[in-house]
Amino acid sequence: MSAILAVAQRGEVILTLKAASVVESELNSSWLNELAEDMQTTMIERNGVGIAAPQVYVSKRIIIVALRYPDAPEIDAVVMVNPEILEQSESTILGEEGCLSVPNERGQVARSEMIKLRYLTLQGESVEAVFHGFPARIVQHEVDHLNGVLFVEKMDLSLIESL
Ligand code: ZN
Repeated sequence: MSAILAVAQRGEVILTLKAASVVESELNSSWLNELAEDMQTTMIERNGVGIAAPQVYVSKRIIIVALRYPDAPEIDAVVMVNPEILEQSESTILGEEGCLSVPNERGQVARSEMIKLRYLTLQGESVEAVFHGFPARIVQHEVDHLNGVLFVEKMDLSLIESL
């Protein structure tokens, strides 16, 4: 049975830490599988499109990204362990972001349009994938969580200044 976990809120120390890598002995463990299931349940319950383990008080490099493929009615929640951005485009696009840890605040953030990512599955299989646009944005937002960074620290203030 999966559980809905408490979500850390902006200002809490856990959200400012650099999370530790998942080690080999943790891969394919019931601890990791249950954590991933609970994170997914929490993300769906809170209507998120992504979640990172530090948001549920686990300082480990695990993220879940909800990908919606064209023609697919269902959201595919992909668990990524120890994600590593291998390449990212210099060209960025602005887009609106929100965060389960920063309620009632949304803002424009510039993100690379394309990223190439390497991550492990829950079973420890290495995967490389390229993401564009919104999925690339979600991955970058979640990887930031693993490095103790919130989107509000990256909001494009020039937009406000130019008004
Ligand atoms: Zn977030």
